[in-house]
Parts: sequence; C-alpha cells; structure tokens
Amino acid sequence: MTPALSIRDLTVTYGEKPALWDIDLDFEPGSLTAVVGPNGAGKSTLLKAVLGLLPKVAGTVLAFGAPIADSLDRIAYVPQRSAVDWDFPTDVLDVAMMGAYRKLGWFRRPGAAERAKALECLDRLGIADLSRRQISQLSGGQQQRVFLARALVQDPDLFLLDEPLAGVDVTTEERALDLFRQLQGQGKTVIVVHHDLETVRDVFDRAVLLNVRLVANGPVRDVMEPAVLRKAYLGGRDQVVC
Ligand code: ADP
Ligand code: MG
Repeated sequence: MTPALSIRDLTVTYGEKPALWDIDLDFEPGSLTAVVGPNGAGKSTLLKAVLGLLPKVAGTVLAFGAPIADSLDRIAYVPQRSAVDWDFPTDVLDVAMMGAYRKLGWFRRPGAAERAKALECLDRLGIADLSRRQISQLSGGQQQRVFLARALVQDPDLFLLDEPLAGVDVTTEERALDLFRQLQGQGKTVIVVHHDLETVRDVFDRAVLLNVRLVANGPVRDVMEPAVLRKAYLGGRDQVVC
C-alpha cells in the first residue's frame, strides 16, 4: 500500500545546530500515530519540514506517493498553540470557514454550503454555540477545538496536529481523542504530536519517538516501553544516563 506520508533521509538544521537528523518514516493510510519526545526533540520541526515550511538540508517527503506540494489540499495542519496570534480580531465561524479556502480558491468567497459545513464541524467538537464569539475571548481548550474544526472543514486525508491537547480542559481532551479515533475509523491518517505519555497507549495505535534522531517507531506497546522511552528522555545523544 502506498504510504499516506513517506519521509526519507530528512535532516533539518537551524544554523549549525541539527534539529532533525536523518529521519526515515512511513505512515500508512488509516494509522493513528502519536509523535513523542522531550522538549526540543524536533517534533514541531518535523511537521513544518514535512509541509515545506522549513528548508531541508537533505531528504525527500512524499504524500500519497507524490511530492507533497501536489497534495497540500489533502493535508490539514494545526500548529502548536504558541505559534498562533490569538489577538487577531475574527470570530469562531470565520476561523472554521478558513478550512474551506483551499478548495474554494482564495478569491471566491465562502457561501451557504461552507457556512453549514463549518457549523457542522464546530458542532462535532461541541462548540457550535460559540460560533459568533471572538476567538480571543475563548479559553485555550475552546480555541484548540476551533482549530480542529477548521481542519475538519478542509476534509483532508492526512492530519498533522502539533500538541492539540497541551494545556486543554478535560472535555476538550475527551472530544479530541474521540475525534481522532473517528477519523481513523473513516480511513484518515492522523499524526499527533502528543505530550502526555499516559494517554498514548490508550488512544493511539502507533508511536514515533524522537530526539533529534529517530529513537523508535512502531506499535505503541513496543515504543512506549520504559526502556525505550528512557533512551529518548534520559539518554539524549550527548547526555549521561543517571
Ligand atoms: P519540539 O517541538 O520537539 O519541542 P522543536 O522542533 O520546536 O522541538 O525544536 C527543536 C530544536 O530546534 C530546539 O532545540 C529548538 O530550540 C530549536 N529551534 C526551533 N525553532 C527554531 C528557530 N526558529 N530558530 C532556531 N532554533 C530553533
Ligand atoms: Mg513543539
């Protein structure tokens, strides 16, 4: 089967410092994968480099067997919360409808169909009643749900989600984890940078463990083993294991 996403020999540096070193990864269609690793491991860098938002020193990335630039309309990306300007004066429905722009083309205004779709996706995340609120007035968890709704509106085949559950309330976490499983049930490929090692085993079927290099990649039960995790969290390349 052609992987939904295939990464070969990917190396990314910021100046002299490598952030990712020689990464090879395949993500099968319909897989639900957690990307884990300590702060600064290169998790956000991985998603950005895959999307072509950062220059690569080396490496190729294919989505659905073709260069990723050909498939950007089939890929939704939710950046890490800290990367978003939350003061931007816009309301929830408008943010959700932005998910329709790529299919519409930037110069056609969204109409009734896109509005209805955006409201349906907000409802799927339990926040349709907030549709006319300013995004800046929402809690962190509510804002994160709006961005997940925007990704749903896009109706992509591949989701790249960067720490969507960091610092969110329990309701948001439950809604989002349910959503990931539903999407997987629909055959979508879902890749989630995830900070909470406790929930990885319960929700995801695969895990990728990063610390600049690829430390492990496989079924969650193999990757989320204490001895394997120690390699990434305590045994960094230049660190002493205590
Ligand atoms: P993670 O998401 O796993 O916490 P990142 O991908 O954000 O890690 O960062 C990986 C490394 O690259 C870190 O050491 C970080 O400080 C560094 N880094 C990230 N973004 C930049 C940048 N724009 N310029 C310089 N260094 C950066
Ligand atoms: Mg990050």
